[in-house]
Amino acid sequence: MLPYATIEEAEAAVGRGLTLAETLWFRYSASKSDYFLYCHNVLFLFLVFNLVPIPLAFAELTRSLGLDQYKIQPKVRLSLAEMRKCYKDVNRVFFLVVGPLQLVSYPSIKIIGIRTGLPLPSRWEILSQLVVYFLVEDYTNYWIHRFLHSKWGYEKIHSVHHEFTAPVGYTAPYAHWAEVLILGIPSFLGPALAPGHMVTFWLWIALRQIEAIETHSGYDLPWSPTKYIPFYGGAEYHDYHHYVGGQSQSNFASVFTYCDFIYGTDKGYQYHKKVLGKLKGMNGGTGTGLNRGKYDCPSDEVKSD
Ligand SMILES: [Zn+2]
Ligand SMILES: [Zn+2]
Repeated sequence: MLPYATIEEAEAAVGRGLTLAETLWFRYSASKSDYFLYCHNVLFLFLVFNLVPIPLAFAELTRSLGLDQYKIQPKVRLSLAEMRKCYKDVNRVFFLVVGPLQLVSYPSIKIIGIRTGLPLPSRWEILSQLVVYFLVEDYTNYWIHRFLHSKWGYEKIHSVHHEFTAPVGYTAPYAHWAEVLILGIPSFLGPALAPGHMVTFWLWIALRQIEAIETHSGYDLPWSPTKYIPFYGGAEYHDYHHYVGGQSQSNFASVFTYCDFIYGTDKGYQYHKKVLGKLKGMNGGTGTGLNRGKYDCPSDEVKSD
C-alpha cells in the first residue's frame, strides 16, 4: 500500500512528475496491501506453469509446428496419457506446495526489504538485479543439484524429476515436493543480497520459471534469444543430464555452464559430443535429421558419465 492518497502527493514525495508506468503503478497498487501484491506471484506462477508449455506440448503430441527437426531426442515421444499425468502432478504440487509456500513466505520478503512504493526502479536497476538473481540462484542450485545426485538424495527425492529421460516443457517443475521446497530457497537468496522492487521480484520469479521451461523444452531452437546469453546452457545442455539419467555426474547447472566447467562436471558431456562428432564424421555426417537425436551414436549407443 502506498503512503500517498493522490498522484499529486506522490509527485510531491518523489520530487518530480510521475512517468506513465509510475502513474499506472500508483493507480493499481495505491490501495492494495503489500501482502496482496506479493500474492500476485501465485497467479503469475500458475499462468506460467500452465500456459507457457502449451505450444511445446502441442508440438510434442502432434509433431507439428515444423519443430521436429529441432527435437533433441526425437525417438522418445510422450503420449497424451503421460503428458496428462505430468500436468496433473505438476498442478497438484503447485496447489499443495508452491502456492502455499508463496503465501507463507511473505515475512521473508518484508525482512529482505522488497519495496512496493515509488519511484519505480529504472530499467538498468531491474536488469542488473535480475543478472545478480540468476547468477546467485544458478550457483546455489548447482550445489544442491549435486547433493541431490548423491545416493540418498537421488533415491529419496531427485529420482522423481528424472522419470522423464527426454524432458518436455511441462516436466520443468515436475519434481518431488521436497525438491520443490529445497530449490525454492535459492530463488530468495538473490533478492536477499540485492533487494529491489516488487515488480522486479515478480519478473524474477516468472522469468526463472520460463527459463526452466525452455531448458526442459526438448527442442534446441536455433533462433532462441537465449543463444546470445554468454555461458547459457539451454535445452540441449540440460537434456543431456536427463538422457544419462540417475548415474549422471554431468551438467548439474540449471542456467549457465561455467560451474560445470570450473568444477569439472561437464567432462562426460564434452567427451560424448567429441566421440559422436568423430563417429558422425566417419559416417558422412548422418548425425542429424528427424530420426536421429543429438546424442544418438550412428552405429552404437554411447553413454558416458
Ligand atoms: Zn538431476
Ligand atoms: Zn531437469
